Amino acid sequence: METLLPRHLDEALAATAAHPEATILAGGTDLMVAVAYQALRPAVVIGIRRVPELQEWDGRFIGAGVTYSRLERGPFAALAQAARTVGSPQIRSAGTIGGNLGTASPAGDSLPFLAALDAEVLLRSQAAERALRWDEFITGPKRTALQPGELIVGARLPEAIPDRQAFAKIGTRTAMVIAIVSCCVLRWDDGTTRVALGSVGPTTVRPRAAETMISTERRPSSAALDEFARLVSAEVSPINDHRSTAAYRRHASGVLARRLLERVL
Ligand SMILES: Cc1cc2nc3c(=O)[nH]c(=O)nc-3n(C[C@H](O)[C@H](O)[C@H](O)COP(=O)(O)OP(=O)(O)OC[C@H]3O[C@@H](n4cnc5c(N)ncnc54)[C@H](O)[C@@H]3O)c2cc1C
Repeated sequence: METLLPRHLDEALAATAAHPEATILAGGTDLMVAVAYQALRPAVVIGIRRVPELQEWDGRFIGAGVTYSRLERGPFAALAQAARTVGSPQIRSAGTIGGNLGTASPAGDSLPFLAALDAEVLLRSQAAERALRWDEFITGPKRTALQPGELIVGARLPEAIPDRQAFAKIGTRTAMVIAIVSCCVLRWDDGTTRVALGSVGPTTVRPRAAETMISTERRPSSAALDEFARLVSAEVSPINDHRSTAAYRRHASGVLARRLLERVL
């Protein structure tokens, strides 16, 4: 196995250009599990932890190499709440938002916040740069639009981000757990509400009918909140697996979204 350890973004992009099929290693918290348990044997690995440009976090730009332990202390409450639920302190010190995007698991805990904001994923190769909206980048469960030779450089958030935001997830225990359901709710002062849920569809789910319905309610009544929860539950498409049943996930999606909405209200 050949290992390349670039020290600047230019070097990293030269390495991906020279080895377009190389495997990118960030914190390794997903990749090394695949090496250990799924017999992944990459021929060329490009380690990007020493690339300072990927660790930049400048306002609305979050570099791919920003770790959960930094996100936990950041200005975005829902993203910080999501980061705090990830793995253990060791996982949070190593795992990055770029790695969460790269893995594109339906359970990725940073993804509901990015989806609720319609964040863009910035990609670069030596030849070009492009920005894809989160749902153009994530094309299916553990599938992305990343092309050979490209790096995820970071996520770009929109200018308008509401103060009222919350994230929570349901799992069998509060630490070291992959979500059975996760949810992020954002509410702007004019009532506009965005909701994104993890682990209840092939990719992060935005329940558009629920968003539209509740966004017109300036002071949602109890009946409106009930209807919101019903619509959220109706719009998710969960599966049965070893963590939960589809029926529980569907029910819990509405309960969790309603609870978070009440919290931000
Ligand atoms: C014990 C344990 C608990 C966990 N708990 C959680 C949890 O609660 N919530 C959660 O969401 N996840 C969890 N995870 C999964 C993992 O920690 C996250 O998905 C993390 O964000 C992965 O980031 P990383 O930097 O370690 O990525 P890596 O493992 O280095 O890479 C992951 C994938 O992304 C690609 N990649 C990484 N960076 C880039 C880049 N800049 N450009 C292009 N491709 C890139 C890699 O090639 C690889 O395919 C857990 C993992 C473990 C081992």
